[in-house]
This record gives sequence, C-alpha cells and structure tokens, in this order.
Amino acid sequence: MDFELSDEHRMIQKTVRDFCETEIEPIAQEIEEEHRFPDEIFDQLAELDMMGVPISEEYGGLGGDTLMYSLVAEEIGRVSGSVGLSYVAHVSLASKPLELFGTEEQKERWLRPLAEGEHMGGWALTEPGSGSDASDMDTTAEKREAEAAGRSGVAAAKDGDEWVLNGTKQFITNANEAGSVLVKAVTDTDAGYDGISTFIVDPQEDDGFEVTTVWDKMGLNASPTCEIQLENVRVSEDRLLGETGDGWDQTKKTLDGGRISIAALSTGLAQGAYDHAKEYSQEREQFGQPISEFDAIRDKLVDMHRKIERARLLTHQAATTYDAGEPVTRESALAKLDASEAAREVAEDAVQVLGGYGYTTDFAPQRFYRDAKLMEIGEGTSEIQHLVIGRELGL
Ligand SMILES: Cc1cc2nc3c(=O)[nH]c(=O)nc-3n(C[C@H](O)[C@H](O)[C@H](O)COP(=O)(O)OP(=O)(O)OC[C@H]3O[C@@H](n4cnc5c(N)ncnc54)[C@H](O)[C@@H]3O)c2cc1C
Repeated sequence: MDFELSDEHRMIQKTVRDFCETEIEPIAQEIEEEHRFPDEIFDQLAELDMMGVPISEEYGGLGGDTLMYSLVAEEIGRVSGSVGLSYVAHVSLASKPLELFGTEEQKERWLRPLAEGEHMGGWALTEPGSGSDASDMDTTAEKREAEAAGRSGVAAAKDGDEWVLNGTKQFITNANEAGSVLVKAVTDTDAGYDGISTFIVDPQEDDGFEVTTVWDKMGLNASPTCEIQLENVRVSEDRLLGETGDGWDQTKKTLDGGRISIAALSTGLAQGAYDHAKEYSQEREQFGQPISEFDAIRDKLVDMHRKIERARLLTHQAATTYDAGEPVTRESALAKLDASEAAREVAEDAVQVLGGYGYTTDFAPQRFYRDAKLMEIGEGTSEIQHLVIGRELGL
C-alpha cells in the first residue's frame, strides 16, 4: 500500500494548516464556551474550495481523493474538534451519499450547494430509542397522494405522489444549520433491513420539520447536535434517494467512508494535544530543568507520538483502500477504533503533562480531551467497531 503524498496533497495540507492556524485556532476555545456555530469559518472553508473535497468537480466539489480529504479533516481536528465534526458530518454523511446514490437531478439540486458550501448538510439515522441497533428505527415514510393534486383523479396522482414522514431523530449534527438532511425511515415494516429508505428533507422549506433540542455536551459545543421532530413532513417522489429499501445498504457504505473521516479527525485531535504538550514540556521548568528532560515526561511524549503515527498510518491505509475501490469495512473500522482511542489517551496525557495548567480552560488540552471522547461514540461506538471487525475476521 502506497501512502506517498503527492505535491497536490502537500499543497492542500499546507493551505488548510495555514488557514486553521490563523483563523480557527485563535477562536477555538471561545466558540466552545459560547456554544456558537462559526458560520464565518465555513464560509471561508467554502472560499478555499474545502467543503466538497472528495466530491467530483462536476458537482461543485474539489475532485480530491479520500486521502486528501483525510488530510484536511486531520488539519481541522488539530485545532478544533467542533469545526472538524461539523465538517466531516457535512462531507461524509450529508454530501457523499448524494454523489454515490443520487440521480443527476438530485446531484444538481442538493449536492452542488453542499459541495460549494452554500449551506451545511445533515444526516439523520439515530433515534431516541435506537443508536447502535440503528435499523430498529420508528420513523416511518408512507406513500400518499399529493394533497393538492390528489383525490381528483388518476392522472394527478400519477405525477403527484408524495411520501409522508413521521418520527423523531436524535443527536443529528448540523440539523439546525442545514439546507438539507438525509433522513432514514421505514417504508416497509415487514422487510427488516430491506424496509429502510433514505429521503432528502429540506429543513427550511418542508413543513413539519422542527429542531426540538440543541444539546449541551461535555465538548464539541460549537458543533450543533440536535433532536428533530418530523410531523407529517410531505416530500415528493424525487426526494427518495436511490430505490425504496436501499436505505440500510446505503448506510453501511456511508459509514465505511465516514469512519475514515472520524479516524482522520481523531488523529488531528491527538496531534493538536501532543503539539501543545511538547511545547509546554520544553518551556516549563521544575527542579531546575525543563520537564521534558524527566524520563517520565519524555516517555509519555514518545508514547503519544507512537500512538499518533499508528493512528495516521491506519487512517491513510483505510483512505487508500477506499480510493482503490476495494472493500474497506475492516480497514475503516480499525482506523476509527484505533485513532479514537489514541485521541482520548493522547489528550489525557497532554492534560497530565501540563499539570495544573492543563486542567484550566486557558490551555487547549482539556478541550481536546473532552472532544476526543465523542470519537469513541459517534458513527458506531468502539464496542460496535469490535463487532464489525470481528465479523470481518470471520469470528
Ligand atoms: C455529538 C454527537 C453527534 C452525533 N451525530 C450524529 C449524526 O449526525 N447523525 C446520526 O444519525 N447520529 C449521530 N450521533 C449518534 C451516534 O451515532 C450514537 O450516539 C451512537 O451510535 C451510539 O448510539 P446510542 O447513543 O443510542 O448508544 P447505545 O446504542 O444505547 O449504546 C449504549 C452503550 O451500549 C453499548 N452497546 C450497544 N449495543 C452493543 C452490542 N451489541 N455489543 C456491545 N455493546 C453494545 C454501546 O457501545 C454503548 O457503550 C451523534 C452523537 C453525538 C453524541
């Protein structure tokens, strides 16, 4: 497997790193404390052409590969978990499925504004009663004749059929900022996995869509996490993504890619925490010498570095496998499992290296520590990654 970065990869990496250091890092703690979604950052990311990195240029994206996208997600994670989470949810969960499973018309209407960064996107799978066992959902979509055209005759019903969505979705990233949300719903209650379908919902225009809660969280508070209510939301047939019954298969493919981006984001969080700890350890003196010269601190930093390198290698392996068009379920779950653990462990060690200062909000490691924890939960918990990997290994 060749993880060699091309000149273009390095150029994008540098562009994003410079942007993150000058524009995001200075406000990262402030937006967390204010629980503020930073619109202006996403506008600037759009100007840099970063909102659709792995989306084809034909639909307004950058036309980059998954490796390039991983580099971008890592760089954002290095300075802000919140910006990173909203970013990867927008790209991997809200945009990529439209490119993979949408019709030409759907790509023009719904994918292009996402890839060009006109607005954010969301993806709604989880419900109050179903998370890890996500297919056990209660949200339904029933087919009915269009209200305006219906009941008056066959011709009207033929081109006027609508789907009516009802249910509650939980923990949906970006939902209150989104111009589109991909909603999973049961269209056939007797068909199990084959009874789930995906619908494109417009939170601004579709009546019956309501954000009922924006959660306060232990971290990542500049990335909105929402509960949404769907009450008789009527959407036309052209809002169905793929065929009825395709929803679960689409979900698995979406998560194969999404987990790579969580792995990349986690690697970034770990790198950011390590950078702070290393710098501090070389400046802080105790017992007449920089603390980095104590074996215990140096060994900690070496172990942090080792975990980051391993997480990055697994992430790049998964990204390269995805780009080669090969099955990637094992690789992406492995990368996500490893990198998310690494992020939490490295961030915890970074707090320790900074001692009492590490426990204050004047220093960044506490934020990385709080943000990293989510990486072991979202897009499948670590326990679920073990299940997925075990299945892939034939266990
Ligand atoms: C900040 C944030 C952002 C999110 N963004 C989105 C989003 O944009 N879209 C979306 O659809 N969802 C989103 N989620 C939801 C997230 O994917 C779920 O929270 C996650 O999948 C876990 O589901 P749950 O919370 O219901 O936990 P549960 O499934 O109830 O799990 C509780 C515990 O039981 C364990 N467990 C469950 N089943 C098993 C099993 N078979 N074997 C072993 N252990 C098991 C879990 O690992 C966990 O430790 C987000 C969540 C958060 C917190």
